[in-house]
Amino acid sequence: MFSYRHAFHAGNHADVLKHLVLLAVLRHLTQKDTALTVFDTHAGAGLYRLDGDYAQTSAEAAEGFLKLVASPLPQPLAPALQDYLEMVAGFNTAGSHKIYPGSPFIIARQLRDRDKLKLFELHPTDSKTLSANIAQLEAGRQIAMLREDGFEGLKKFLPPPSRRALVLCDPSYELKSDYGRVADMVADSLQRFATGCYAVWYPIIPRPEAHDLPKKLKTLANKAGKSWLGATLTIKSSKLQKDDAGDVVRPGLPASGMFIINPPHTLKAALALALPQLVPLLKQDTHAAFTLESGG
Ligand code: SAM
Repeated sequence: MFSYRHAFHAGNHADVLKHLVLLAVLRHLTQKDTALTVFDTHAGAGLYRLDGDYAQTSAEAAEGFLKLVASPLPQPLAPALQDYLEMVAGFNTAGSHKIYPGSPFIIARQLRDRDKLKLFELHPTDSKTLSANIAQLEAGRQIAMLREDGFEGLKKFLPPPSRRALVLCDPSYELKSDYGRVADMVADSLQRFATGCYAVWYPIIPRPEAHDLPKKLKTLANKAGKSWLGATLTIKSSKLQKDDAGDVVRPGLPASGMFIINPPHTLKAALALALPQLVPLLKQDTHAAFTLESGG
């Protein structure tokens, strides 16, 4: 456990999808006056350098965020995509793309004084980095950082006193058991707090557990009588490929999805404009595609 470090992946195509959806959800949830509590069950380090050693080792941002900002953008740009690009730009000096914000900072920037944020991060190094990064915000008790298991730790906070909450669940899926734990956490949370908004990121890879997770989440939402939305983004084929020397190479993560229970009613329309623009911008082969479905 704990070989996963998000710094290797920051700004990749999965982060683009996840953070674009996260921001669109937050924009809607912070329109109502009532206080909001946001939970990030797998927070990561909070801020990443795209020119740092980690990012350069994998260069995943080059297939994600950096590819977007290097491309001629369609006009008019979908508002959710424009909002996402402006949000990341807000962490950088004009024209530079050195800093990429993780979910804790994306959320923190959207909080009003009455809102709260609770961050869970188990990795010894990343939790220290996250604490140091969050300390710079001088947010006091508004932002709490817990070095605990996010799946378990969430339970004691539901339902939150504000009775309005967003839960982002973004595990590394380093352990096969994470898939089952996500579904168990969502099932338990819906019983404790049925009106919360639950947003789960998952990888789309040839593994039965990964394939089953969105189906399980859909079943949970339907059984609870709650609305749901699923969005996926594929940038390339998942088939094994050969490199120039003829050796078989793994293609890297080809696709991922976001599954949201109790999504804002504005989300589907926003993504219906943004996803068709993202596909040609990030595509690596003819398998590039998006899906967008909803129910409940
Ligand atoms: N949500 C972050 C973002 O969007 O910027 C990225 C999170 S990364 C995909 C997953 C993180 O979960 C890693 O930093 C890992 O150390 C942490 N982690 C793994 N298992 C955990 C657990 N059971 N509880 C809390 N954090 C965990």
